[in-house]
Amino acid sequence: MLSERVLNMNESATLAMASKARELKSKGLDIISMSLGEPDFGAPEFLRNAAIKAIENDFSSYTPVVGFKDLRQAISNKLKRDNGLDYSDNQIIVSTGAKQSIANLILSLINPGDEVIIPAPFWVSYEDVIKFAGGKPIILKSSIEDDFKVSAEQIRNAITPKTKLFLFSNPCNPSGSMYFKNELVEIAEVFKNTDVIIASDEIYEYIVFEGEHFSIGSLDSVKDQVVTINGLSKGYAVTGWRLGYLAGPEKIVKACAKIQSQFTSGANSIAQKAAIEALDSGNSKVLYMREAFLERRNFLIDQMKKKVPHAVVNSPQGAFYLFPDLKYYLDNSKLENVEQLSQHLLTDALVACTPGSAFGGDTNIRMSYALSLEDIEKAVDRIAASLDKLIL
Ligand code: PMP
Ligand code: GLU
Repeated sequence: MLSERVLNMNESATLAMASKARELKSKGLDIISMSLGEPDFGAPEFLRNAAIKAIENDFSSYTPVVGFKDLRQAISNKLKRDNGLDYSDNQIIVSTGAKQSIANLILSLINPGDEVIIPAPFWVSYEDVIKFAGGKPIILKSSIEDDFKVSAEQIRNAITPKTKLFLFSNPCNPSGSMYFKNELVEIAEVFKNTDVIIASDEIYEYIVFEGEHFSIGSLDSVKDQVVTINGLSKGYAVTGWRLGYLAGPEKIVKACAKIQSQFTSGANSIAQKAAIEALDSGNSKVLYMREAFLERRNFLIDQMKKKVPHAVVNSPQGAFYLFPDLKYYLDNSKLENVEQLSQHLLTDALVACTPGSAFGGDTNIRMSYALSLEDIEKAVDRIAASLDKLIL
């Protein structure tokens, strides 16, 4: 009865694990959820007030498909101010979350058989949406020793006449790694003078602990072929408001608008109006979130090193995930794969983590540390005990 298109698609692993965790919680189990990438702070007060004001001003009609003009202008200003990017308001489209921006982009560009290069580990939805469009994900492996980053040379070797798009997140979900300016300059060299579109997903831009975030679209050599994606979900802790945006060549923006006009229309009016205040204030009112994430990152790394000695961990420079390699536990237990390992942690340790395989990491799990220090400690204690039981 169902289409092949949908039968061939996987459910989002992050959302699937979150819903399993919720179900067990509703049965009264004391689940600690490290599965969903979601800040735990609640919306900042100034943003809640901005949304209330938008309701009082009765912004309740359909919105323009591409988003309110004043919001697109605020996005254009933000991209200039924070990222050194030059996008006019007609090169910007607002969507129902960055997830929709990415889906619009892929559906706009990819014909069956086209190749999309994605460095692994990659965000879970990239692979399935590429396949949904008939495209072929070309996955480039990286290792924890290289801080989960691929080299410009690896990318160069993956390019073929069918390569249409290079898609990456920076900072990266799920590894938290950052590509810094010198690395992005090298990557830009690879794509200079080609027709390949570079899509830079910068949704974790404000959650950076070390070094400066840099936008590849600010490099002259590739600026006309870069699409920059961002949104409010992570930086402002408003995942449920569903507000994201894409900036890029006008032709691509128009194509995304055509798709959006048939699928969802313009994004939520209230969230759009409130977003203007968020973007105008930059990250100045949300720095406390970054500070809390940094403390939690350091604490989680320390706990893992002390209590789960066979896990290999690195020190991510951004986002709020740790992506430990648990190969030792897979090799020395009866478990066949990391999905089984995540399932074991869920039912035995009552800790929900997302299996790394969903992100192209077959021996890793993703731990979101958007939790209190107390819960992080409890989770690691339980994981340690539960992994120990597996060893043959
Ligand atoms: N890109 C990355 C790398 C993500 O982790 C997420 C999940 N928040 C998104 C895009 C989509 O974000 P949203 O749709 O909530 O804006
Ligand atoms: N992006 C978040 C995550 O990676 C939210 C879940 C999702 O949108 O898939 O967990």
